[in-house]
Amino acid sequence: MTSDHRSVVRRSAPPESATRPLGTPLSPAVAYWAPDADALDAIYEGGAAGFTYGREGHPNWQVLAEKLDWMEGAAGGVLMGSGMAAVGAVFLAVLKAGDHVVAGDQLYGRSLRLLNEELPRMGVSVSLVDATDGAAFAAAIRPETRLALVEVVANPTLRVADMPAILAACRARGVALAVDNTFTTPRLYRPLAEGADYVIHSVTKLLAGHADVTLGYVGARAPEAARRVYDISASWGLTPAPFDCWLAERGLHTFDLRFERAQANAAALADRLAALPGVEAVLYPARPDHPDHNRARAICGDEGGYMVSFRLRGGRAVANRFLRAAEHLPFAPTLGDVATTLSHPASSSHRGMSPAAREAIGITEGFIRVSVGIEDPGLILPEFEAAVAAAGAAAPDPAPAPAPAGGMAAP
Ligand SMILES: *Cc1c(COP(=O)(O)O)cnc(C)c1O
Repeated sequence: MTSDHRSVVRRSAPPESATRPLGTPLSPAVAYWAPDADALDAIYEGGAAGFTYGREGHPNWQVLAEKLDWMEGAAGGVLMGSGMAAVGAVFLAVLKAGDHVVAGDQLYGRSLRLLNEELPRMGVSVSLVDATDGAAFAAAIRPETRLALVEVVANPTLRVADMPAILAACRARGVALAVDNTFTTPRLYRPLAEGADYVIHSVTKLLAGHADVTLGYVGARAPEAARRVYDISASWGLTPAPFDCWLAERGLHTFDLRFERAQANAAALADRLAALPGVEAVLYPARPDHPDHNRARAICGDEGGYMVSFRLRGGRAVANRFLRAAEHLPFAPTLGDVATTLSHPASSSHRGMSPAAREAIGITEGFIRVSVGIEDPGLILPEFEAAVAAAGAAAPDPAPAPAPAGGMAAP
C-alpha cells in the first residue's frame, strides 16, 4: 500500500471543476481549515468573508438568511433552529431584568408561555393586551417598556392587529417593536418597511412549506440590531443544521407559487363553508363579514392569506365527527404545509385556557382552523362539504351556544 491514508481520513477540498453547481451545495462541515492565524483573525474581526465553526455560521445558513433578508427588506437577519428560538433570541437581545414587555394576548401558544412563564422568572414583567385595540396597546406602555411583540393576524381567530396605531405608539415611546410575521408572510405584510424593528418567522411553516424542517428567522431593520441577534444566537447555541437550511431554501424557491395557490384555495373554501347550514361562522380576513375586514384591507389589500377558521354548529361530538369524516385532510398540529391540515384549538393550542376564556374569544368546541394547501380545489372543497354534512347528519347536537361577544361575525 503506497497511498497516503491521510487523504482518506481528511479530504479537505471538493474536486476541481470548471463549472459551478446550479443549486446550493449542502455543506455539513462543522469546522473550516484556515491557512494561518492572520486569516482566522481577519474572519473573526469581520475583515474577511468566511466561516470558522458551524455554530458561528455556515454556508447554507447564510444563503437562506440572505434570501429572507431580501424578502423582508432586513439590514441583516439570522436563522435559528426553530420559530421559538427566534422569538427567544429577540427577548434575549433586547431585555434585561427590570424591563417590561407589551404583547398581544392572542399570540402563538408557546410565545405566550415564554412571556408568561419564563420572562417573569428573569425579572422581566409582561402585559398582554388585545392587539386589535390600538389605544389599549398604547396605554399599556410604561416608562420601563423596552419591547412590544405582536402577530399581525392572530391564531386561530384570525383577528387583525391595529398595526398603524401600534407602530405609532412604539415609535413615540421609544419601544422596540417585534412582529411575528409567520401567518402573514412578506407577501401580505412587510413589518420592517412599516417601521418595526424586528421581524420574526417560524420558517417551519409556509416559507419552507413542506412540513419537514423546523427553523426560525429574525430580521432586523438596523445592522447593529442584527449583529446583536447574531451574537445571541451564536452564544446561546441556536444555530440550525445545514441540511435544514438547505431544505428550507429549496422550499423557498416555490414560495410565491405555493402562496398564491393556497390563498386562492382558502378564499374559495371560506366562501364555500359560509354557505353550509352546518357552519355557524367563517373567519377569513378578506371576507366582508370578518370583524376586522376594513383593517385587513388597509393592511393586506384584498389578500386574505391561506388560513381559514370556522365554527361548526355544535360541540366536541360534532367536531370529532367532522375530523373523522374528513379522512383525506390530516388533523395535525402544524400549518403552512403543501397539504391542507386541520386543527382543533380547544383540544390543542388553546387547551390551557378555561372554556369560558376560550368562548370569550370565539373558540368553541366546534371551532376548526384550516391551513389550506395547494391541492386541486376540486378535490378539497367537496371533501369539506361532505365532512360538514356528515358531522351534522349523524346525530344533531343540542341547540348551539349563543354567539360570544367579541367573537366572530355570523356569515
Ligand atoms: C409555529 C409558530 C411559531 C413557533 O415556530 P416553531 O418553528 O414551531 O418553533 C411562532 N409563531 C407562530 C405564529 C407560529 O405559527
